[in-house]
Formats: sequence, structure tokens, C-alpha cells
Amino acid sequence: MINIVIFGAPGAGKGTQAQLLAEKYDFLHISTGEMLRQEVALGTPLGQRAKAIMDRGDLVGDDIVAGLLARAISLRSTLPSPDADLDPIDIERKGMPHRPEGCIIDGYPRTVQQAQTLEFLFRKLDRKIDCVVAIDVPRDELVRRIHERAAISNRSDDNEDVIRHRIEEYDLKTQPVLDYYRVSGLLVSVDGSGEIAETNTRIVNLINRRLGL
Ligand code: ADP
Repeated sequence: MINIVIFGAPGAGKGTQAQLLAEKYDFLHISTGEMLRQEVALGTPLGQRAKAIMDRGDLVGDDIVAGLLARAISLRSTLPSPDADLDPIDIERKGMPHRPEGCIIDGYPRTVQQAQTLEFLFRKLDRKIDCVVAIDVPRDELVRRIHERAAISNRSDDNEDVIRHRIEEYDLKTQPVLDYYRVSGLLVSVDGSGEIAETNTRIVNLINRRLGL
């Protein structure tokens, strides 16, 4: 079971890259931002608590996020058996399907405390983080992308003031997580300033080399 964390500032493209990697390796994609937006859209009590916080660009409390994360990372053990409902024609065409043997986590951890929470949860599940991929994008390019995204996004936290605050939150609370993983030797950095496909190739090469995939 391979566990990869994708790390980056708002606008670095971690959601896009995490999605591409999950498809490529057939891993589970876990995005705390997406899970929170889903709770908001469904109007659950948790979503109602999170909405105002997200709309301000603040970080949602770990009491809320850790529960969502714990549910998502333990999901694998409850997936149906890989042999269930197999269509023989499909198998002939595409080969035997396989269950995800790993996960790509995006948007968590965002604080050192969350990094410790993740470690604790993984230890309980007898799992560990194999690699933390930090997507590096220069600040002026981040700002450019964010302006571009704000113009077309329908996310309620994608307006310029809120985005600025999300970057401040990143600098203050999330940046220190990089040092946390640097010390443990898990951190690898990738230049994310170019096109999506280019960054993706860099990350895939790096993961393949590092994890022997
Ligand atoms: P981005 O990285 O572009 O800010 P995300 O989708 O990862 O986008 O996160 C959107 C918002 O969801 C954050 O600004 C924050 O309010 C909330 N959020 C997501 N993940 C976490 C987390 N791990 N801890 C606290 N808040 C989170």
C-alpha cells in the first residue's frame, strides 16, 4: 500500500496533479478540500460549520477535517471484494481489474498538528507515508493563476481577498509542514511552474524512481 501526499500553495495545481496521479496509478484520491465542499453542498451539520470558515479563507479546525480524513483513508478495507460483479467481457477486454493499492492525499496535512494526526492515523492502520511531493510555483505565477481561476471559478472562496488570505494561511501555518517532512527525509520538490502535463511527467518520473514503480 503506497501513500503519497501532494503538497502545494493555493494555485500550485495540487488538486489537478493529485487527480492525474490517482488515475495513472489507480490509487484512491483523497482531497480534504473536495470532501469539505461536498459536505457544504449536502448541507450536513459539518458542512454548515465549515462553510463560513472556508468562505473566509481560514483553515477549518482539525476536529472537523481529521474525522473526514480518517473515514476516507480507512475506506479501502471496506471496498467490495475485487471479484464482485465482474463482467467476463470486460475482463477479456481490459484485463483483471485491481483495487487501489495506494492513495494520493491532497490538502492534508496543512498544519504540523495535522501532520502528527496523519501519522497517528496511519500508525493505527499499519501504514506510512512513502513520499511527500511539494509542487513549487513562484509567488507571481501563483498570483497570476489565482486571478485567472477567480474569473471562471464557481468556488465561493475563489475571490481575490479570500485567495490572498488563503495564501497567508499557507505561509503561516502550512509552510512549516514542509520542514517537518524535510527532516524526516520524505520530502521531494518538483518545479510546478510549467504546463500541467509537464509537471505531471516530472512528478511521475520522480515517484517511479523513488518508489520503484
Ligand atoms: P486550495 O489549496 O486551493 O486552497 P483546497 O480545496 O485544498 O484548495 O482547500 C479549500 C479550503 O478548504 C481551504 O481554504 C480550507 O478552508 C479548507 N481545507 C481543506 N483542507 C483543509 C485542511 N486539511 N485543514 C483545514 N482546512 C482545510
